[in-house]
Amino acid sequence: MAAKNDAKTSGKDWRPATTLVHGGTIRSQFGEMSEAMFLTSGYAYDTAEQAEARFKGESEGFVYSRYSNPTVAMFEERMRALEGAGAARATATGMAAVTTALLSFLKAGDHVVAGRVLFGSNLYIMENILPRLGIETTLVDGKDLDAWGAAMRPNTRACFFETPTNPSLEIADVEGVCGIAREAGALSIIDNVFATPILQKPLEMGADIVVYSATKHIDGQGRCLGGVVLSSQEFIEETLHDFFKHTGPSMSPFNAWVMLKGLETLPLRVRHSCASAELVADFLAQRSEVARVFYPGRRDHPQYALAKRQMASGGPLVAFDLKGGKEAAFRFMNALEIFKITNNLGDAKSLVTHPATTTHQRLGPEGRAAIGIGEGLLRLSLGLEDAGDLVADIERAISA
Ligand SMILES: *Cc1c(COP(=O)(O)O)cnc(C)c1O
Repeated sequence: MAAKNDAKTSGKDWRPATTLVHGGTIRSQFGEMSEAMFLTSGYAYDTAEQAEARFKGESEGFVYSRYSNPTVAMFEERMRALEGAGAARATATGMAAVTTALLSFLKAGDHVVAGRVLFGSNLYIMENILPRLGIETTLVDGKDLDAWGAAMRPNTRACFFETPTNPSLEIADVEGVCGIAREAGALSIIDNVFATPILQKPLEMGADIVVYSATKHIDGQGRCLGGVVLSSQEFIEETLHDFFKHTGPSMSPFNAWVMLKGLETLPLRVRHSCASAELVADFLAQRSEVARVFYPGRRDHPQYALAKRQMASGGPLVAFDLKGGKEAAFRFMNALEIFKITNNLGDAKSLVTHPATTTHQRLGPEGRAAIGIGEGLLRLSLGLEDAGDLVADIERAISA
C-alpha cells in the first residue's frame, strides 16, 4: 500500500510556487503549521485485526518506514504535484533513485541505450553494473537522434539520458528521444537534475520516468542526500514499489523533512541562481582568457534553439574552457574567494569544479576528450550570493 495523504491538497489547480508551499501537507491532530518530522521506523496498530487488515491492504495507513512514512509521503506528494506525475517514491540518494528506477524492471537479456555524457556514477552503472547483470548497454551521442534510432534493438527496454549533461551542458531533444524509445517499446528515463524540476518538465514532453538527486537544488543548501523517482501511478505502484519495498533504498524522514522545506523556496532559489548564471556566462564570454563558454541560455550554445524550446531558462550551471589548460584552471580556482572548490552542485554557496581531475578523472584523457572535457574545463554552480560579488570574484581570479 502506498502512503496515504489525508490532506491531498495538491490535486487543486495550483501554480508551482503554491504547490511547493502547500502541496502534500498532512496535519496531525495538533494542527502544526510547519510540517511534522515523523522520526519513527514503525507504527502501532489499535488492534490485532487492524494489523491484519493493514497487511492485507484492506486498511489505509502506514506499516513500516522502509515502505512509507508520513514525512516522506509529504515530500513525495509535493514532488508528484510539482512534476505532474502519477506517483513518486523518495530514495536515500540520487543514485538510489537511478538504480531503483532501472533495476525495478530490467532483467538479464535486456538492452539499454544511454546518452554518453553522464554523471560519473550513472556512467558506472551503464558500463559496469548493468553488463555484469547480463543487461547490455549501448552509449550514444545523446544530441544525435539518428544515433538513438540506430542503437535500438528488439530487446531494448530503456533509454536513459541527462539534459543538460554534466559537465559540458549539452542538450538532448527530450521529445525526440522519448518518441524513439516509445516506438521501440522501451521506457525513457531522464535524470533531470541539471534542469531542476522548475525549468524542464520531461513528463509533459513524453518521458516515462524522471529521476532526481534531491541532494542538489531540491535541498539546495548542501545539507542532506536524497533522491526521487517520478512516473505514472501504474509504473510506481505496480512495477517499482515491490522492488523498492524489499530492497530498501528509502529516504530517511529527517532528510525528507529537510527536502520538503527546501521545496518551499525552490522556485525563488532557482530563479536567483539562473539570473546569476546568465550574468556570469555573459561576463566569461567577453574575456580573452576564456576559450569557450557553455551555457544553454546563450545564443552561441550549439543547441540554443532546442534549449529554449524545452527549458524555461538556461539553468543554474555554467561551464567554460579556460585557455592554458589545467595550470590556468587550478590558478583560477585557487584565486577564488567566494566560489568554493568541490565536486558537488546545487548549494546556496557558489561552487567550482574541475571535472578532468575530479568527477571525470576515471575516464582518462581519451575518454574525456571523446565527450568534450578538456583540461581547462571548469563547471560553476551558481548559489544564492549577490551576483555582482560573484562576477567580481571571477574577475579577480581570472586576472590572477
Ligand atoms: C549528483 C547527481 C546524481 C547522484 O545523486 P546523489 O544524490 O549524489 O546520489 C545523479 N545525477 C546527476 C546529474 C547528479 O548531478
